[in-house]
Amino acid sequence: MFYHPSESLKRSELENLQVERLRAVVENARKSPFYGERLKDFDIRELQTASDITKLPFTTKDDLRSQYPYGLLTRSLDDFVRLHASSGTTGTPTAVFYTQKDIDQWADLMARSMYAVGVRRSDVLQNMSGYGLFTGGLGIHYGSERLGCLTVPAGAGNTRRQIKLIRDFSVTVLHIIPSFALYFAQKVVEEGFDPAEMPWKVALIGAEPHTEETRRRIEELMHIKAYNSYGLSEMNGPGVAFECTEQTGMHVWEDAYIAEIIDPATGEHVAEGEVGELVMTTLTREGMPIIRYRTRDLTRFIPGQCACGRTHRRIDRITGRADDMLIIKGVNIYPMQIEQVLMAMPEVGQNYVIELIREGFMDQIRVKVEVKEEYFVEDMRVLRNLQKSIAARLCNEILVTPRVELVMHDAIPKAAGKAVRVVDLRDQEKDS
Ligand code: AMP
Ligand code: ZN
Repeated sequence: MFYHPSESLKRSELENLQVERLRAVVENARKSPFYGERLKDFDIRELQTASDITKLPFTTKDDLRSQYPYGLLTRSLDDFVRLHASSGTTGTPTAVFYTQKDIDQWADLMARSMYAVGVRRSDVLQNMSGYGLFTGGLGIHYGSERLGCLTVPAGAGNTRRQIKLIRDFSVTVLHIIPSFALYFAQKVVEEGFDPAEMPWKVALIGAEPHTEETRRRIEELMHIKAYNSYGLSEMNGPGVAFECTEQTGMHVWEDAYIAEIIDPATGEHVAEGEVGELVMTTLTREGMPIIRYRTRDLTRFIPGQCACGRTHRRIDRITGRADDMLIIKGVNIYPMQIEQVLMAMPEVGQNYVIELIREGFMDQIRVKVEVKEEYFVEDMRVLRNLQKSIAARLCNEILVTPRVELVMHDAIPKAAGKAVRVVDLRDQEKDS
């Protein structure tokens, strides 16, 4: 019924396994220059239960940067077979290294994740994310092969070729970034195809924050079931947490990771069910273990049991990153609040962008919204009303009234990989 027996372990058994593995992780991590120093005085006997993980220090992105490239490796470079890097565009990148065993374990986690949403070896999977340093390429690819699917390594972009491959090889499963899925759905129709007639059944969507409204939109536009896939390169890549067919949150694979949710200000665990920063520890990676990594991603544990029978705890969809927050007129705003409003409006097309601008001495946001072709009419009054209604709904959600600019569909350039939702124009223009 499940891909791996550990998926239905009793909580007590799972937690015993975690603490056992955690002790081994600390022992192993100490072989790296970074943790060798940081954990040199740590007494492993302090780890009696899985919750004793709080006795260990956090690891931050800055730690990884300061150790770039090899400071966290526990063995000689000869033992490694692959590296990936995080998509961060600023500053020093962070690189992650894998031994053969690490690659195998990651492929297993990925296969398990796909199995949880009904993918089987008889499926044909088209991987539409970029290959290269980004983990969404080879990570999904290896998992798909591990499961035994015929795998089409299409890579990103080139919509027409994607459609041809899907039709020629009767592709049943897509791996696609959500912002690209919205764009792609529109292109499929423009190319003269009916999405309901396409062979696909399942889309694995992830790699970037998106709302429930966006998921529903993808499902309706494409006539597909879309499942949320969460991961980050520091924790291997995709396959860290994945929805099951219930679509009620993502199971964190707790035999391979320990997940915690903390208050980013105090570092303490938040109360069960409250939103905070996700902190992750690798339990099975031998080459580059990472302990209590502060992901900056905001989410919460979903209380209770999942109807699917898996015992691994679920996290809610990521609402944003701690560093995504905009402060406008003293109010904290997350881009996903804006997306949630926009994607629920039928007139709104498949893309939008939030521009950070300066008005006088104040910061303000201008939301550029694509309008669907059929709603982009010549009557100015109709458009003006739509603009007002979008502004009013946004104000209702974010408590400030943003500027709203309506643009024609396809007017906003589509990013090649992860969508860029916020553009800072404050130094480039003076608005009034
Ligand atoms: P990278 O390591 O460059 O692939 O980026 C990982 C980051 O992408 C995570 O820390 C999240 O911020 C984001 N991310 C990945 N998957 C999801 C998802 N399903 N929902 C929201 N954000 C995601
Ligand atoms: Zn489930």
